[in-house]
Amino acid sequence: MLGRGLAKRCAVCGRGHLFDGWFTMKPRCPGCGYRFEREEGFFLGAVVVNLAVAEALMAILCIVPVIYLSATRPDAAIWPVLVGGLLAAVMAPIAFYPFSRTVWVAFELMLRPAATSEPSDAR
Ligand SMILES: [Zn+2]
Repeated sequence: MLGRGLAKRCAVCGRGHLFDGWFTMKPRCPGCGYRFEREEGFFLGAVVVNLAVAEALMAILCIVPVIYLSATRPDAAIWPVLVGGLLAAVMAPIAFYPFSRTVWVAFELMLRPAATSEPSDAR
């Protein structure tokens, strides 16, 4: 189920094309009709997923190399690493945005499976 989310596919049926653009997710799956936003504020979890990925990338690409460079070669220039980290901090949340939403839908479905009586499933 999480793999479907990572592939930007519906966690329920596996169908793709869930977005009308990079930032606009369809309210329902075109394949199975599953409504993605289960409750108001549902996608706040996707923001947390996106932030966690961006922070992890920032740590890997910037913080760890700066610490390593400072420890091994204190006279080396660290600005290229800092610029790379800054670019990653800006670009990663944009690039990962749709994936964060589908990953969050899958993660939430794993933790709280959809009930047939769920109000969000009513058409
Ligand atoms: Zn579906």
